Amino acid sequence: MRKHIVAGNWKMNNGLIQTETLISELKQQEKTSDAEVMIAPTFTNLWHAFQSTRQDDIEVIAQNMHFAEDGAYTGEVSAGMLKSIGIQTVILGHSERRAYFKETDESLAKKVSTALAHNMRIVFCFGEELSDRKAGNEEIVVENQIKKALFHLDASAFKAIILAYEPVWAIGTGETASPEQAQDMHAFIRKTLMNKYGEITSDEVSILYGGSVKPNNAKEIFSKPDVDGGLIGGASLKAEDFYAIVNAF
Ligand code: PEP
Repeated sequence: MRKHIVAGNWKMNNGLIQTETLISELKQQEKTSDAEVMIAPTFTNLWHAFQSTRQDDIEVIAQNMHFAEDGAYTGEVSAGMLKSIGIQTVILGHSERRAYFKETDESLAKKVSTALAHNMRIVFCFGEELSDRKAGNEEIVVENQIKKALFHLDASAFKAIILAYEPVWAIGTGETASPEQAQDMHAFIRKTLMNKYGEITSDEVSILYGGSVKPNNAKEIFSKPDVDGGLIGGASLKAEDFYAIVNAF
């Protein structure tokens, strides 16, 4: 059975004090769903967030990492460094990393391999831009992103991979893919995996939707059979909103 997962991507928000405050507010929320809860604070607060949530049903995950083990990569953070402070899961391929930091499918394939070599789980993000969707190319774009970054892996690697379909035009814009658009794309993603790895693998992979998920639309999006959860940006910065989404399952 694949898991329900709701992950909050805090992006470049919250210093140490705000991180403490938000975590203590998150801990006060009641969880009524079976979804796994993850939060991704910025690097400088990972250790603190990890320590503060050790007894809680919240996993602290990283927003990014480098593919190299170590070396002359000023400003970067390695998988080993994340593991050394207890972090087990990393987001890779977020559209903001692709757009602003020029991450490519090729560099992401390397990051994926490095994370797996460190026995980390990966929330792997991908999604088409508005121009792709307007041109009717969304499936081909998504298929290529998945193939180029993940198809060098064996089927067994997918036990550690969570997919996050995030149409770029819906991220931080207030515009959401309709539940039907999300379902259609998630079913297509599962079919793409099935063609390469077979039904067991494609059935077991959790596929999250991301793009302006809010308390008022989460239930409908999560009701779709191939939507296994959400990657949440803006709404993850408010404890009540975030848990309203978690509890939408
Ligand atoms: C995201 O950045 O992954 C995201 C989905 O953001 P938002 O929920 O703010 O659209």
